[in-house]
Amino acid sequence: MPLVTMGPMLKRAQKERYGIAAFNMIDYNSVRSIVDGATALNAPIIVQVSTKTIRHWGFKPIASWVRQLAEDTAVPVALHLDHCSDLNIIKGCIDAGWTSVMFDGSSLPFAENVKKSKEAYDIATAAGVGLEAEIGAIGGVEDDKFVAEDKSILADFDECVAFCKEMPKLAVFAPAIGTAHGFYAGEPKIAYELLERITSVIDIPIALHGGTGLTEEQFHRCIGSGCAKVNISTMHKHRFVEGFLEVRKQKPKEAEPLPFIKGQYDAMLGDVRDMIRIFGSEGRAPHAAGQA
Ligand SMILES: [Zn+2]
Repeated sequence: MPLVTMGPMLKRAQKERYGIAAFNMIDYNSVRSIVDGATALNAPIIVQVSTKTIRHWGFKPIASWVRQLAEDTAVPVALHLDHCSDLNIIKGCIDAGWTSVMFDGSSLPFAENVKKSKEAYDIATAAGVGLEAEIGAIGGVEDDKFVAEDKSILADFDECVAFCKEMPKLAVFAPAIGTAHGFYAGEPKIAYELLERITSVIDIPIALHGGTGLTEEQFHRCIGSGCAKVNISTMHKHRFVEGFLEVRKQKPKEAEPLPFIKGQYDAMLGDVRDMIRIFGSEGRAPHAAGQA
């Protein structure tokens, strides 16, 4: 089917308390593993792209890979731009066919973040594209930005309320709740109470950033408290590299590239399926039996 926007699918996921996996794609092989994993389990899926990856490949190739794979499957696929603070890249994505985008103004003072996020919100909404916006500071590395895990700042509850009031049609809201990008150095301290307080008054699906390294129990608790979009980046990147190297280990003299690409694909596909099962989105694509 054609690419979909993520707002409606996340609303339903939040209501029915399951999570939709959002994997950060790397190349065509990676997008294939993400879409094929979702297809095999009849699950909705989000393919998200970092600005760094867009700088590497360009807007058009990425949009055409994802669009083609989406059109060839019956499960809903959204193409999303991950953390971005540059409105020109956001506009470039919208022009190239992205169905949702994230504006990350979390490093700005609150008032400035509201102002800039609102600008992105107006651009995205006018184009029929969903927007994700963030407040607080999620720890770890995201593109060129680094926030030490102990320096990450939890979102302020009153600011969350004020922020979402300005943008009631946000497709997904990303308050910092103690998770971090990359691998966790210590035990993640997730602010469940804050998350529950936010979802008790704000009627917008929540994004869980820093999914790599969380336990099944942590995923379930976050999803049960209203996180509908679950981001996985680091794990996918590592599998991309390891899947390739594993083939080299088993076939030291192999010079044909396709077995390497296959090994990489299989490794990534395994993770995609595992995560979909953990998040509870298996069988949640619209055409699943008994669903409209
Ligand atoms: Zn993130």
